[in-house]
Amino acid sequence: MSTTLLSGRTLARLMQQKAHDDARNLEAEGLRPTLAVVVATDDGSTQWYVRSIERAAESAGVSCRIVDLGHDATAQVLAGVLKDLSNEPTVHGIILQTPLPPGVDADALVGHIAPEKDIDGANPVSLGHLAVGQPSFAPATARAVIEILDHFDIPVAGRNVVVIGRSAVVGKPLSLLLLERDAAVTICHSRSGPLEKYTKTADVVIVAAGRIGLLNSSHISSEAVVIDVGTNVLPDGSLVGDVDQASVRGVAAALTPVPGGVGSVTTSLLLLHTVEAAREQSRAFVREGAA
Ligand code: NAP
Repeated sequence: MSTTLLSGRTLARLMQQKAHDDARNLEAEGLRPTLAVVVATDDGSTQWYVRSIERAAESAGVSCRIVDLGHDATAQVLAGVLKDLSNEPTVHGIILQTPLPPGVDADALVGHIAPEKDIDGANPVSLGHLAVGQPSFAPATARAVIEILDHFDIPVAGRNVVVIGRSAVVGKPLSLLLLERDAAVTICHSRSGPLEKYTKTADVVIVAAGRIGLLNSSHISSEAVVIDVGTNVLPDGSLVGDVDQASVRGVAAALTPVPGGVGSVTTSLLLLHTVEAAREQSRAFVREGAA
């Protein structure tokens, strides 16, 4: 069987263009959408990723402020910066980039990001809103998966969807987004037992575990759509996902590549979320002024 490759690049370009158009409209009203990325690491791949967000933001007409606090920043300094940015009216979106310095707990810090500026859905308040169907920003990676499914007209309502991974940044929010779309969702993790027990009968399998080669052709049916969220950097610097792509190609009905799949859409979504946040904050400001 021939496997359709679900590239994210076209969708990412379309989203980038939408972010650009919306940002231009806001700028005509005197508002420049601005994203702040807080960094506290010298890690090369993180620095590379942050620069890629900066470049994408520039070309979408979104200002990007990199707040680099150095690899020895303390939790107290980081918390103070997140609170200040949350209160800064010219900043509309905030990301706390991981990894953080040893001993600094990201979970304890993300609560300092104001929910209305939490464009990567990191604050537990955002996840709570998502869980009860209230407006909030979903983590961009989780939403990127949904956008890819929509873009390629892959239905999930009433279908058997397996999510491998239960982190608060990918697996859990993604499962909530899928439930919202009436999928029958099964969540697997490191202690759920043999994967094939769940994946063999799945219509859609989404892998977000950070384990190279975790899913191969023996785990899936020939009608399965496979979404590979994993990003693993090999010693030579190249990027691979969690799916044994060579094994799955020719067996699955469709497959996202790595790179060029979920990751490319994620960055564009961060910019779209920033523009949405800027628009919403400016409307809220007008409403408060009128009240
Ligand atoms: P994480 O916090 O480490 O969570 C990994 C999840 O996978 C955990 O729930 C873990 O189960 C589960 N898992 C690990 N080994 C497993 C196994 N052998 N069988 C079944 N489940 C297993 O990672 P994350 O932050 O969610 O990220 C997951 C992957 O997505 C990583 O490769 C990351 O780099 C990638 N990612 C990509 C993007 C993008 O834009 N493309 C963005 C974010 C993350 P337990 O809960 O039981 O430990």
